[in-house]
Amino acid sequence: MMIHSPPFQIPVKVHPRRRRMALVMTDTGVEVRVPPHASRRTIEAFVVANHAWIESALSRQTPRQTFLWGVSHPLTSIDARDALQVYLSERLPVWSARMGCEPNRVVITNMKSRWGSCSSRGRVAFALNLAQVPKPLVDYVIVHELAHLHEMNHSSRFWAHVAAQLPDYQTLRTQLRDWGRRIGPLQP
Ligand SMILES: [Zn+2]
Repeated sequence: MMIHSPPFQIPVKVHPRRRRMALVMTDTGVEVRVPPHASRRTIEAFVVANHAWIESALSRQTPRQTFLWGVSHPLTSIDARDALQVYLSERLPVWSARMGCEPNRVVITNMKSRWGSCSSRGRVAFALNLAQVPKPLVDYVIVHELAHLHEMNHSSRFWAHVAAQLPDYQTLRTQLRDWGRRIGPLQP
């Protein structure tokens, strides 16, 4: 549900255990969180009553930026591809040798919802957006996808392959998730 309260459009999120309405800043703007069964009229009135808060919250929000290896940098998708290509060509052989497995094919794709993928035929894909995150996180994705060449699942055996190379992989995973929320869209 969306509340149209000019000049604002505020998404509504229903939270089953919530008792009161609240406005919350998110990465993309402001949303209103409401208890179940809150009526549209009540929510609208709440939003109207808080216009001043919404305006100041939105003005404080910094627009999403692009990064190169975790450092703020205006980045085009061509530059990102070049940078990632170079880094993968350095690091893939290293991790392949350590892990005793080699992909049949490596591609960089513009996928947005995942950082990497691995097919049963040994085709490994990396997201173009990896050029935006710090390099240790790219290494984590390389290790993750190579581990799939051993185990095509996320079983404990799979995670043992990852942990053998990167004992702190859980921290890296969390950081990668955070970066996913911070990075902005690449220029064409
Ligand atoms: Zn996986």
